[in-house]
Amino acid sequence: MSLAKGDLESILDRQAAQCAAKGFQLTSLRRLLMGILLNAGKPVKAYDLIEEAGRSGRRLTPATVYRVLGFLMDQGLVHRVNALNAFVACAESHGRLSRHQPLLLVCPSCRKTTEINDPDLSVMVFGKLSDLGHSLKGGSIEVHGQCQVCAEK
Ligand SMILES: [Zn+2]
Ligand SMILES: [Zn+2]
Repeated sequence: MSLAKGDLESILDRQAAQCAAKGFQLTSLRRLLMGILLNAGKPVKAYDLIEEAGRSGRRLTPATVYRVLGFLMDQGLVHRVNALNAFVACAESHGRLSRHQPLLLVCPSCRKTTEINDPDLSVMVFGKLSDLGHSLKGGSIEVHGQCQVCAEK
């Protein structure tokens, strides 16, 4: 899956405006990596980001990539998928939630990752966690389940 060039640019422009409103800049490097993640439409490992950026003529070190990913995660634009040790573009902005707390449904076979955007569900799950005195490391909840395509194989 890959986005039409115009669609991708308009999403990136919107995200740049979102960052600017908070006093941050979506620099060309941040924009490049964000674009790769949006285009992939699935979780991407840091190593593959480096390779993909290289194809666009940017030679990046892992430290640089992780720094940029850290920024994008702080902005709620990207989520880490711990189970896959990879990163995925956020499916929507988390404006309705007080914090960036995604619920990710991960297929362990094909790595398809679906972000469940249900504020009521999130409030319930995260509220329960905090009632029990747990705080989330990594900021997301991952539910692992085989997707329909893999199940039918
Ligand atoms: Zn998200
Ligand atoms: Zn699958």
